[in-house]
Amino acid sequence: MKSIAIAADMYGCPNRCRHCWLSHMPNRKMEDGADQWIVDSFKPFFEQIEFYSWLREPDYCDDYRARWERDKQLSVNTTPQRFELGSFWRLVRDPEYVRFLKELGVRCVQLTFFGLRETTDRYIGRKGAFDELLRATELLIENEISPRWQAFINRENKDEIVELLRLSVSLKLKERVEAFGSSFRFFVHAGSCEGENRKLYPIRINKGEIPAVLIPYYLNYVENYAEKELCEKLRHDSLPMVPHNDQNPVIYVANDYDLFFNFTHMRKEWRIGNLKEDPIEELVRRIRTEDIPALKIARSITVAELVSRYGNPESNRLFEEQDYKIFLLNSHLEKLSESERSLQNRAKGRESGQ
Ligand code: SF4
Repeated sequence: MKSIAIAADMYGCPNRCRHCWLSHMPNRKMEDGADQWIVDSFKPFFEQIEFYSWLREPDYCDDYRARWERDKQLSVNTTPQRFELGSFWRLVRDPEYVRFLKELGVRCVQLTFFGLRETTDRYIGRKGAFDELLRATELLIENEISPRWQAFINRENKDEIVELLRLSVSLKLKERVEAFGSSFRFFVHAGSCEGENRKLYPIRINKGEIPAVLIPYYLNYVENYAEKELCEKLRHDSLPMVPHNDQNPVIYVANDYDLFFNFTHMRKEWRIGNLKEDPIEELVRRIRTEDIPALKIARSITVAELVSRYGNPESNRLFEEQDYKIFLLNSHLEKLSESERSLQNRAKGRESGQ
């Protein structure tokens, strides 16, 4: 393992999306020099380091131009990628920003909706977010960058997602984007069921409830199953569900220097260790050998056992198979954490004589 990608949460995020798979974390600017120190910590162990100063909102810091140069300069024997991402928050506040994206050759920026105005604002956690997304769409098109509309669907907002599709048609987004030789994409999905989206399990969309007009736009529709179908399919699966890096690892650095793999949400159970507190040799060993408590637990239980303990054979909620397995594994890890906490509380109660 000679290469690693490191994404550090150096500035945070203006949004608090209710589907955020990473989980909500406080915004805290990391101290000056943190970027160099993080890269220097990993340098003796990896020949190639791709460094990103963001893992939530890209370009959230005011000096995003200098920041991008610095990320490139800090990366070792490689260059960080741009992906099809940008900050809609910044797009509508800083006229220079779209020009910056254009200069970098960004051809498409993904924008995320949850329905119409009130619902999107509520799910993004900011009043005005929906109007900003529409304004960002216009700015991108004016600059011949294709907006890609992603919509998260659940039982509460499914009819509004139909309205959103109609809005994209009435705004003639497809035709306007095709006019500069690109293509407009609208797609719908329920997302994985981890991080904040895990809390939306009670209103997760059921199989058979997706409005017919949205089915052609549903991501990997044929690979989505009702929870009860997955319970049936997986109830004899004698293998464990162990997330694993086939290729070079991507490591997330939280703003308190906790490290995580990019397998699932950034919750305590998944912590690799802390870059300030644990020896770097030990952290690199854990990364290389995937030796962390969550993965040890994952190796010790089969999918069949997870299904029998945490699956709901009556449920029609829609999942892709991999997402469902990680949902079950996180249910198990959560349960173990709860048991551990209640044991600790009982021990504390005994010590204080309660
Ligand atoms: S989903 Fe992205 S934009 Fe939304 S809160 Fe999470 S990191 Fe921020």
